[in-house]
Amino acid sequence: MAACYNLDRTEFYPIVLQIEIIVNNTSNPLQLNVGYLYNKPIGTIREVPVNLERIKIDDVVITDLESIVRLSRTREGLLLQVDAAAKLKTNCTRCLQEFFLPVDVEFEELYQFPSRQREETDLILPHDGYIDLRQIYREYLILALPIKRVCQADCKGLCPVCGANLNNISCEHQTEPPESTEKLEDNTTV
Ligand SMILES: [Zn+2]
Ligand SMILES: [Zn+2]
Repeated sequence: MAACYNLDRTEFYPIVLQIEIIVNNTSNPLQLNVGYLYNKPIGTIREVPVNLERIKIDDVVITDLESIVRLSRTREGLLLQVDAAAKLKTNCTRCLQEFFLPVDVEFEELYQFPSRQREETDLILPHDGYIDLRQIYREYLILALPIKRVCQADCKGLCPVCGANLNNISCEHQTEPPESTEKLEDNTTV
């Protein structure tokens, strides 16, 4: 109990960049306790590593998530800056097979104190101090997916006639390479 005397002294520590692990909610590891920053001076910064082997957020399966969440106390609330790398389960745009595609993304969002809310879409800091990062992680990781996603650089895709996955088998329709006719067509359209 003697340690209780020291609790308030944390307020007098100089503002320093610290790494704190405060992800301890097993049912939602992307729930972050940021309440301890509400009463910190403007300019206080904390960095929190958020690393997960696997998480499913609605329809999105994410593995090998490695991210740093940087929290800065501002006048309006907390500025959240995230630098994340992960693999997302997606479908190859050529052969349609599922695979995990590595993506990198950086994003920032401002969480505002309720009194500062201007629009309904603003992110608001909850009274209990816990913010749920699942939806913004999901959104930004999906945005990081390229339009063309190939499972391997030389993915052969599907046979346009029978739909066979040409990475695994070669079908009877592949005896003549279709490239010559395609090139002719390309030239006529130019
Ligand atoms: Zn493929
Ligand atoms: Zn075929």
